[in-house]
Amino acid sequence: MIPFDFEYYKPETVEEAVNLFNKLKTIGKKPIYYGGGTEFISMARMHNVYTEGVIDIKGIPECNIHQLRNNELIIGSAVTLTNIAELNLFPLLSLTVKRIADHTIQGKITLGGNLAATIIYREAILPLLVTDSEIVIAGIDGNKRVPLREVFDKQIQLTEGEMIVKVIIDNQFLSLPYIHVKRTKNEKIDYPLITIAALKNNNNINIAFSGLCEYPFRSSLIEDILNDNLISIDERINTAINNIPSQILNDISGSSEYRKFILNTMLHETLNKFEVIS
Ligand SMILES: Cc1cc2nc3c(=O)[nH]c(=O)nc-3n(C[C@H](O)[C@H](O)[C@H](O)COP(=O)(O)OP(=O)(O)OC[C@H]3O[C@@H](n4cnc5c(N)ncnc54)[C@H](O)[C@@H]3O)c2cc1C
Repeated sequence: MIPFDFEYYKPETVEEAVNLFNKLKTIGKKPIYYGGGTEFISMARMHNVYTEGVIDIKGIPECNIHQLRNNELIIGSAVTLTNIAELNLFPLLSLTVKRIADHTIQGKITLGGNLAATIIYREAILPLLVTDSEIVIAGIDGNKRVPLREVFDKQIQLTEGEMIVKVIIDNQFLSLPYIHVKRTKNEKIDYPLITIAALKNNNNINIAFSGLCEYPFRSSLIEDILNDNLISIDERINTAINNIPSQILNDISGSSEYRKFILNTMLHETLNKFEVIS
């Protein structure tokens, strides 16, 4: 049971949602946007989040868009992981979301909710990072369409009251060779020890990671190292592992040494898949 009362709103447009957030904030109601509610409900039950106004964005058509248009794939923030997997317009994203939680929960989790979640993994961001995707964010001053990398620093940087409306992926990336590898501690359905999503674009590997550090990331230094044909594959992988941009997680799921060990095998698998030879 959620241990507090709140008002529930279901706006029909992005403008209505953003204005409502602002209005509720002004009268001190601590509003939150609501996608699938999987994180909000579990955190509310544990007294880790409080709100007096829930703004459910699932009734907004712009947030439910899911189509190819003008050489772009557009996916609204209220689209569920199940929907992404079933339509399968971007196989790397489909594979990634099919390994988040279980089948029942995937029908609730929304793309925007996973991208904005407080959980450190946020795995749905990985395919968007390796495709240089764009994101539309709405705030009180209107919508902005920006490259994801401009607003992504460990997480998508949203100012209070801003909401994710949709993401946009250039068609050219949708059919490139790709690989998704997720290693977990025990079960197939679990949080990642490490997840890798990568694709090969013009002989270069674009690669992003989750579970390795306290936030998902893509690193140009790591890509430069892995794409350096002048050095052996073993040396590339060892150098890449020594250049992880932050501390490698060391927790009950796995020590940092163990994560380095499995990262080594995962990177071999990735380079092998893309037939990289040295
Ligand atoms: C059993 C289980 C296992 C899981 N395993 C994994 C896993 O391995 N890897 C992984 O990445 N995830 C995993 N998840 C999912 C993750 O923990 C979150 O529960 C999920 O991503 C939240 O999505 P939601 O749509 O339910 O968001 P909600 O609960 O609705 O919202 C989450 C947060 O995002 C904000 N928000 C929602 N939509 C928007 C928007 N459009 N714009 C701005 N802010 C928004 C909300 O205000 C809230 O702060 C798991 C979840 C469960 C329940």
